[in-house]
Amino acid sequence: MTGSSSAGAAAIPRFAGTLDSMSDAAIPDDASRPATVAQLRASGYPNRSVKDELRQNLLNRLEQREPLFPSIVGFDDSVLPSLERGVLAGHDLILLGERGQAKTRLIRHLVNLLDEFTPVIAGCEVNDHPYRPICARCRALLASDGDSVAIDWLPRDRRYAEKLATPDTSVADLVGDVDPIRVAEGRYLSDELTIHYGLIPRTHRGIVAINELPDLPERIQVALFNILEERDVQIRGYQIRLPLDLLLVATANPEDYTHRGRIVSPLKDRFGTQVRTHYPETLGDEIAIMDQEARSPAGDGQILHEGGCGGADRGATPIAPDQPAQRRLRALLDRQPRDPEGRGRSARRSGW
Ligand SMILES: [Zn+2]
Repeated sequence: MTGSSSAGAAAIPRFAGTLDSMSDAAIPDDASRPATVAQLRASGYPNRSVKDELRQNLLNRLEQREPLFPSIVGFDDSVLPSLERGVLAGHDLILLGERGQAKTRLIRHLVNLLDEFTPVIAGCEVNDHPYRPICARCRALLASDGDSVAIDWLPRDRRYAEKLATPDTSVADLVGDVDPIRVAEGRYLSDELTIHYGLIPRTHRGIVAINELPDLPERIQVALFNILEERDVQIRGYQIRLPLDLLLVATANPEDYTHRGRIVSPLKDRFGTQVRTHYPETLGDEIAIMDQEARSPAGDGQILHEGGCGGADRGATPIAPDQPAQRRLRALLDRQPRDPEGRGRSARRSGW
């Protein structure tokens, strides 16, 4: 430890409490935040994984009875309890459900369970933890400068990455590739510092969401598994060790599961919790979703609503733009018998 860092440590407040009581609320404001590794240690900041952080913050919210998923309707007794159990158990999650079942919205809500700010080694490409860096640059920096290495505070929204899996997604996108400019600067190909990191290493210490996972080619799924489970990755034939710390959340459409693509079994086994989503189960939920998602179009002309809720209405019904969705739906339902097979159609149509 250097002399200057211990002097600085005296000026900063200690984090209240132990790991168990530590929450995002305990992070001090800008000016008083620790600025070096030494100050961070002196403040008592805990060394914990992303999943521990999520679990602890979820427990705190549950204790305070705060709504965790404020804009999610109709999942209170089905989807949300499974999702919460998965987070409490420290599992990676896979959400199975059809289009329009708020899967992506659910995942985005998980970001609010991260601490508001988290310390990272300043200038690191992969958000290295000040206590346990994984990249070559930061390991070298910590070895040479010790606890005087500077830290930054990363807001929670920067710790989330979302990728829609498509057949043209490459290993370079997700994991990384050799950066030719760094090689041209005189580094050897085998040098870890020549690597340009992809999306997943750059979301180290955060949440990675992969939408429509079965659409990812199996070759890429294997690379994903290697980096997440085996914790090392081959880039252009060179083995690099990256013990990443992150929560992986994937979505898949059950139809695609069997027809179009599949999830390779070692990767499938990584998802400890599987959550099935569904369309709204009650008329009240459907109406609430319609109201929530209703947007007034620009201008004040009349909208022509084609077809009713059950799809049996052939004529176009003029609807005033200021009429609440709830009344519009009631009016349509009153005019025709409800189609028992049409459950959930209105939610799908509303772009929920
Ligand atoms: Zn680093």
